[in-house]
Amino acid sequence: AEEVGGGDKEVVREYFNNDGFQRWRRIYGDGDDVNKVQMDIRVGHSKTVENVMKMLSDEGPLSGVTVCDAGCGTGCLSIPLAKEGAVVVASDISAAMVAEAEKQAREELLEGKDELPPGLVLPKFEVSDLESLKGKYDTVVCLDVLIHYPQNKADGMIAHLASLAENRLILSFAPKTFYYDLLKRVGELFPGPSKATRAYLHAEADVERALQKVGWKIRKRGLITTQFYFSRIVEAVPA
Ligand code: SAM
Repeated sequence: AEEVGGGDKEVVREYFNNDGFQRWRRIYGDGDDVNKVQMDIRVGHSKTVENVMKMLSDEGPLSGVTVCDAGCGTGCLSIPLAKEGAVVVASDISAAMVAEAEKQAREELLEGKDELPPGLVLPKFEVSDLESLKGKYDTVVCLDVLIHYPQNKADGMIAHLASLAENRLILSFAPKTFYYDLLKRVGELFPGPSKATRAYLHAEADVERALQKVGWKIRKRGLITTQFYFSRIVEAVPA
């Protein structure tokens, strides 16, 4: 398997199958078993999901649109997409995350019935790192995953995601202009022994350059900030 930052990828996988899985499942859930920082991140992240859903549906109905949700986590985006009739392939490097996403998708979409309402399909769930993803999708989305990639690896990752997308690619990442110290203080949210140093922020210009290199341009931008959560959202299309 390809390496991210010299073994980072194994560390990331291990983290999101264990401590990170427990932690992020709570953050992305709706229980009250979270602390203040985690609650703040929950609110910020749900705004990101809302913003992305709006960006996507502003371009037309999602019914029948194929979407690759790369690094799907517990399915926070895949599930609302499927509710809009999108045909979703949801994947994550963590088997624990994928199992949780599938469980939640079944609960929320089937609501105890045997069949889905007409026009809806359950997302297809796969355990896969995003470098191994293949195929073509109308839309590729990758939310809050770049934080695990140093910029020199991020370029390849962005190029690969763009190669899977026919019409649009949506990425969200922690922008470099924001308070790095804050992230450091919540180092427990990141994998690895020196956790805070494993959180990579990205300059918007670097992401834009990586997109341009493979013939894509940014069409829309969004920015979500709360006290502890910062996310730049970009929607790119073929130039
Ligand atoms: N995209 C989801 C969301 O916004 O709800 C989850 C975001 S979570 C902070 C980051 C996710 O990226 C984790 O579930 C982790 O397992 C996954 N991840 C990290 N590196 C990955 C890689 N190389 N390939 C696929 N998934 C990866």
